[in-house]
Order: sequence, then C-alpha cells, then structure tokens
Amino acid sequence: MKPFDIEIIKSFSEKLGLVQSPIVIMPHVNPDGDAVGSALGFANVLKNAGKQVVVISPNLYPDFYKWMAGSAEVVIFNAEREKSAKIMKEAGMLICLDFNHLSRTGEMIELVESFEGPSILIDHHPYPQNFTDLIISHPEYSSTAELVFHVVKALGMEPFVDKWAAECLFCGIMTDTGSFDYNVSDPQTFKTVSELLTYNINPEEIHGRVFDNYSVDRMRLLGYCLSECMEVYPEYHAAMIFLTKEVQKRYNFAPGDSEGFVNYPLSIKGVHFSTLFTEKDDQVKASFRSKGDFPVNEFASSHFNGGGHRNASGGEVTTNLQDTLTKYRSLLPEYAELLTKTKC
Ligand code: 5GP
Ligand code: MN
Repeated sequence: MKPFDIEIIKSFSEKLGLVQSPIVIMPHVNPDGDAVGSALGFANVLKNAGKQVVVISPNLYPDFYKWMAGSAEVVIFNAEREKSAKIMKEAGMLICLDFNHLSRTGEMIELVESFEGPSILIDHHPYPQNFTDLIISHPEYSSTAELVFHVVKALGMEPFVDKWAAECLFCGIMTDTGSFDYNVSDPQTFKTVSELLTYNINPEEIHGRVFDNYSVDRMRLLGYCLSECMEVYPEYHAAMIFLTKEVQKRYNFAPGDSEGFVNYPLSIKGVHFSTLFTEKDDQVKASFRSKGDFPVNEFASSHFNGGGHRNASGGEVTTNLQDTLTKYRSLLPEYAELLTKTKC
C-alpha cells in the first residue's frame, strides 16, 4: 500500500478538530456493502470521538445492510429532500466515501456541488474527479472500508474504534472482495481483517446477515435468470444476464435483489467476462465483472457511460433494453482479441 500523504492527513485532522456543526458522510447512489459499511464505520468512530455526524445516502440501500450500527438514523435523500438539504446547509464538513465522480452522487449532485464547508473524498476507485477540497485516493486498497480504517489510524483515532464500527468496516471489506474471493492479493488486507477481529466481531454472523438473508422471491428470480435470461459466448469467454422489468415485477423485485447475480457467470469454466443488464424505468443499468486482465472499467467508460475498477465496473445507458443487448452483442467481436488472450 502506498503511504498516505502526511500533509493531507494533517489538514484533514485540523479541519476535523475545528468543526463545530454536524459532519455529513455520504456514500454513492445505490450504495453497496462497502459504501454503507465505510460510511457507518467512519460515522461510528467520529461519534465515539464526540463529533456530531449524519449519514445521508442518495437513495435507499438493501435491507440486508440495515443491521449496521447507526443504520436507523441514516437520512435517505430521495425520501427526505428538504430535511437533507437543511442538514447539508448547516453541516460543518462533508465526507464523500466510496466514489470518484460527482455523477455517483445521484440526485444529491447540486447539494454536493454547492457545499460551502470543507469537504474530503476518501475512495479506492482509480482516476478521482477533483470535486472536494481534500482527496485521499488509494486504488490499491481492497475497499473504501479498509482504507477508512487506516485513515482512522493515521488520524490517531484508533481508540474510538469499537465493535460496532469494526462490524461495519468488516462488512465493507467482505462485500467488496466477494467474501475474500478477489482484491485480496495484498497481505495487508488480511492484516486489516485480523485487526478488526480483535474488536470481538463475529465474521460468520456478519456474513450470514448479508448473504443468508434473501427472500424466497430473490432466490427464484436468480434461478429464473440463470436458466432463461443468460447468454453464454464461449468463443469470447463472455456471458451476459438480462433482467427485464416484467421479470422484476413477477418476482417482487426489491433493492439489492440482484446483488451478486453478475458474479455467477464467472463460475462457468472458461468465462472471464460477465455482464448484467437491468432494465429500469428510463435507463438500463449495466454491471460488469472480469477475472484476470480484461479491463471492464475501460469497457464501461467507452460504451456504457460508466467506470469502476479493472475487474468490477458499471454504467448506465438511456437506450432501451433490446438495443442495449444488441449493442453488447455487437461489441464482443471488437474485443475478441483482448478477450481471448486475457490471462486469468
Ligand atoms: P455494481 O456492478 O456493483 O453496480 O458496480 C461495481 C463497481 O462499478 C462499483 O463499485 C463502481 O466502482 C462501478 N460503477 C457501477 N456503476 C457505475 C456507474 O454508473 N458509473 C461509474 N463511473 N461507475 C460505476
Ligand atoms: Mn468500494
């Protein structure tokens, strides 16, 4: 891991010391386990240090993350716009976690752009946009949660980490590594986890709260998608799942129900590029995953208005689902060489 820029840590520490009014922490839109875990983990540490903290999420996150300490107090922007705007107006600092671009703030974009107090971005996505006063960007970390733990230590705030904060941070690392399946080749990540375990957290229980907590509908939806809505392209080492609105309705789709779907095709022998297209009201959400060298963040940014990490990325397009699928199918031959020579 790269060492932290001491000047930035010093400046962040000074600003934290001076802040009088509440600190707002925000994750990205459609928050995943790392976004929620790093936001609530850091919030718990700052609260233990005597700070007033409010977590504002651009939109709702799945129920299976709601066990985290402080989740009940999270303000959901698109459900409580006026309250959120008031809190942002009065806040003394803004901490943005787990995203690298203003477009990932969802409908909070104007509030973030017009925020007047000190602001900081702490994130592990490559190529951060410069929209905060300070940036702590370390793509070599497995997750923002892991990075937050080390920022907390660098700030000298380790004494304020407790079991509840450690549970949140562990959840962020666990989910962003696919339960320690990928992004874990740096020994540091396991060292971080072993430090978090000293706070008496129960990793099996946390894993169960997230991954053994699905509805029957969600399981049946997964089964349906894998049997009826998956296309496999062995010649390109690729596979794709599409999720229509009609199918979502049939299985009472709830936020988070399709989390993890995109990983399944990677279990097929020979497949190392996987895609999930989810039809929304006026757009299609794309999720991409790869094993090995194939850079899905470049694929996402070149064709699907998105970005992310080399092996996990996403994007959104406003074309309808059928046109999106046609576009995807026509792109595969263009990437044939890269996909077939990819090492994994
Ligand atoms: P997911 O497929 O789980 O939604 O997203 C995987 C990763 O891709 C996220 O951690 C994030 O880095 C990135 N990502 C997902 N959606 C978008 C998007 O619309 N724009 C950008 N820039 N990145 C995205
Ligand atoms: Mn993350």
